[in-house]
Amino acid sequence: MNASSYRGRFAPSPTGPLHAGSLVAAMASFLDARAHGGAWLLRIEDIDEARALPKAAQAIMQCLQAHGMQWDGKPLWQSRRKALYQAAFERLGDAVYPCGCSRREIADSRLGVASDGAAVYPGTCRHGLAPGRTPRAWRLQVPDQVIHFNDRWIGPVSQRLATEVGDFVLKRADGYWAYQLAVVVDDAECGITDVVRGADLLDSSARQIYLQRLLGYPTPRYMHVPVLQNERGEKLSKQTGAAALDDSRPLEGLMQAAGFLGLGLPRRETVAEFWEAAVALWRDRHGVLAGN
Ligand code: GLU
Repeated sequence: MNASSYRGRFAPSPTGPLHAGSLVAAMASFLDARAHGGAWLLRIEDIDEARALPKAAQAIMQCLQAHGMQWDGKPLWQSRRKALYQAAFERLGDAVYPCGCSRREIADSRLGVASDGAAVYPGTCRHGLAPGRTPRAWRLQVPDQVIHFNDRWIGPVSQRLATEVGDFVLKRADGYWAYQLAVVVDDAECGITDVVRGADLLDSSARQIYLQRLLGYPTPRYMHVPVLQNERGEKLSKQTGAAALDDSRPLEGLMQAAGFLGLGLPRRETVAEFWEAAVALWRDRHGVLAGN
């Protein structure tokens, strides 16, 4: 692949303002796109409309711009793309089945907990709903197969979906499309070649690769960068009380995020100078792209 066909993206969920942790993910994907002369798209992941906050997307966009990160083209909104998710879901045919289990029932089956904290689904409804059960969510059957990929930051990764995740949800009990389906459809429809995001999503990649294969989509390259933690060892997030970035002092946040990503840069006077130096450094470190 030549460098100019590179297409990356940043895909924030608009549940609150950007914080130091989300800046790290945004910066890594932006640097990787710019270092490869590629496009950097912005996708607002507001598919969970119950959690999306009306003003958050606007605040995220302003914050990115204040920090010198301008996306290419128009931002894409998942809430406006439901017909695409429905079409992909229909293409999966018999691989998808209705599930009547509650969260508690799945947890009680004690098959284990996936690394993202969700209980491994024991397959209760795989061969049909028991009499008297009503469908809640829709799940995708997974085969007993190991998915391998080569992460550009972490190295070789493999996951056995059947035992580490189980059949996973594509349409949720509350009627919303699941993140896994929406992200796979959007990345493919936008021609994303490189997914650069936080390592908290590493565990989702095997599910996404499996879905890509079923839907006949190419698999992008992946790079999962370290996630900032607070002093209690928790991922920095809105839920753990991370402070919003200060748009009036962008260099502070930028220098901190760059340091965390291992880019030791002397302090710059302007945001533009910061990016020029950071892109060059990133190109030295991560410039070579191999196939998957
Ligand atoms: N919307 C997800 C988040 O904010 C990111 C999804 C992705 O990069 O694949 O954590």
